[in-house]
Amino acid sequence: MACEPQINPSGATGPLSASSTGWNALSVGSPPGWGQELHNGQVLTVLRIDNTCTPISFDLGAAEEQLQTWGIQLPADQYRSLAESALLEPQVRRYIIYNSRPMWLAFAVVFYVVVWANIYSTSQMFALGHHWVGVLLVTLAAVSLTLTLVLIFERHQRKANTNTDLRLAAANRALLRHRVLLGVTDTVEGCQSVIQLWFVYFDLENCVHFLSDHVQEMKTSQESLLRSRLSQICVVMETGVSPTLAVEGHEDLLEETPLLPDGPQSQERPLMQTELRQLISDAEPEEMAQQLLAVFGGYYIRLLVTSQLPQATGTRHTDSPRVPCPCQLIEAHILGTECCSSLGR
Ligand SMILES: [Zn+2]
Repeated sequence: MACEPQINPSGATGPLSASSTGWNALSVGSPPGWGQELHNGQVLTVLRIDNTCTPISFDLGAAEEQLQTWGIQLPADQYRSLAESALLEPQVRRYIIYNSRPMWLAFAVVFYVVVWANIYSTSQMFALGHHWVGVLLVTLAAVSLTLTLVLIFERHQRKANTNTDLRLAAANRALLRHRVLLGVTDTVEGCQSVIQLWFVYFDLENCVHFLSDHVQEMKTSQESLLRSRLSQICVVMETGVSPTLAVEGHEDLLEETPLLPDGPQSQERPLMQTELRQLISDAEPEEMAQQLLAVFGGYYIRLLVTSQLPQATGTRHTDSPRVPCPCQLIEAHILGTECCSSLGR
């Protein structure tokens, strides 16, 4: 996927100088009332919160007040709990820290030192061990391996992230009709991990129509390809199982029963099972189009605000000729014949 620096809506990364403690809401668009209309891809506001060990919560009320100045009324009861539960669970917050860029760079430095030392100590067994040419070769080999690791990480960053992007699907589904999409990014300030929740304006009516027609066309002429693509858009879910049902209805589970008696802790642990759940269900084309936009809305917003969107040759529903709109991204990289380089499983 070819990437180059692209538009940064309304100077989105400009005024990100929030206080280092607690949350802060920043309006990154121009103030309303200046005769300007909202345009697709315009960042309305960003909520920032320090990713600490203590329980945290977004002050979504502050963001809602910001959006009201743009004339946008968000349904608090429909999206608040969905957004917070998607991002603020301890497991998700730990994942964000361990997958942040500074953490990976620190890992790359450690990796380089260990690889260099290992190759050098191995080379001592050969004649070129103490020669400067030997040291140079060792360094080049270590640098090459480290660069490969960094490139793998950069590629990983451009994939849809099941643990952050796709978890916003339910919240984005609730916000579609209000012309707002949520996306999440993370950064590090000093030694503090910071989560950023982006509220971006998008009127997706035209994207829904395009995708709806595209899905209808695929259902007619490329149904197997459509099924194949949609089957890859799934997540692994862990769900609780009733012990009674497990005994009566699922004999397979008996094979997984431990031979040794359970300890006091394991007796309290609920019985869990994992299942593969498809995120896009077979429905009317318009419904499927909305599902696709909701599922990949968070992914699109993350790429948009970090200038990682692939360059487009002519856009459909955004003002910038180089920035693809969500339906273009979904058509090219999720439903297209050359899919699914951008998908994460
Ligand atoms: Zn579109």
